[in-house]
Amino acid sequence: MTNEAATRTVLVTGGGRGIGRATSLLCAARGWAVAVNYAHDAAAAESVVAAIEAGGGRALAVRADVARDAEVSAMFAAIDRALPPLAGLVNNAGVVDLGSRVDAMTPARLERMFAINVYGSFYCAREAIRRMTTKPAATGRAGANAGGAIVNVSSAAAKLGAPGQYVDYAAAKGAIETFTLGLAKELAGEGIRVNAVRPGIIETEIHASGGTPDRVAQMLPLLPMQRAGSAEEVAEAIVFLLSEAASYTTGSILEVTGGR
Ligand code: NAP
Repeated sequence: MTNEAATRTVLVTGGGRGIGRATSLLCAARGWAVAVNYAHDAAAAESVVAAIEAGGGRALAVRADVARDAEVSAMFAAIDRALPPLAGLVNNAGVVDLGSRVDAMTPARLERMFAINVYGSFYCAREAIRRMTTKPAATGRAGANAGGAIVNVSSAAAKLGAPGQYVDYAAAKGAIETFTLGLAKELAGEGIRVNAVRPGIIETEIHASGGTPDRVAQMLPLLPMQRAGSAEEVAEAIVFLLSEAASYTTGSILEVTGGR
């Protein structure tokens, strides 16, 4: 593949680190041009872009806080200018917070949790739909689009509830699963498939950001395979759902939990 070969673009939110990084790299290996979104860590996103370009692929690092609607709109406009037409969106950007009981959760904590993990996915989906729907008149836009695929990143927390730890995060991921089911039906006749992955315990930096850097080791006895998953294992599921191999799959939530 050469830098000019990619004819369609996927946006991976939070594409510079963890599951997003692995997804960006695998998408590039499968021939996608990749928009690598980040919020704070420009160096991580740029290193993903450099790795993709070194492999002959095409990529762009784009900063936007997905919780900020205007930044999301500007990000999509920048992608339009620099890369081939958008045909994929991976709503991966997400945060946890420190362990807390529900009765101790502040409004500021809840606002951040739902703004990034839920509203951000809605904002990005809105922009992606406008660029991908084969019925652009439905969005008030003219012109022909070629369809596409959206993959949302949920969590096993959505089914487990994360009691005593982060019920707010679990509830936000529950919202993402319902969003996936509804949006899949809404767009099924418009050439856009919508699915989600539900990762279990995956080795990334997110556990340290939730105040438990040793969470993987703590959880080990509870994991049926007696190991955590890797970001690459989640990326494989995401890229499958993005691909034509999943052409009749929409509205599904794919477990990547090692049986948990
Ligand atoms: P991570 O290593 O902590 O990476 C999080 C990524 O999200 C970073 O690239 C970060 O960007 C980005 N991000 C955070 N806030 C953002 C914002 N406001 N706008 C744009 N980007 C933002 O996390 P991860 O483990 O790879 O998690 C990725 C997804 O998988 C999340 O949705 C998470 O909930 C989900 N998940 C993870 C696990 C797990 O065990 N790791 C399990 C289930 C689900 P910067 O680099 O700029 O900070």
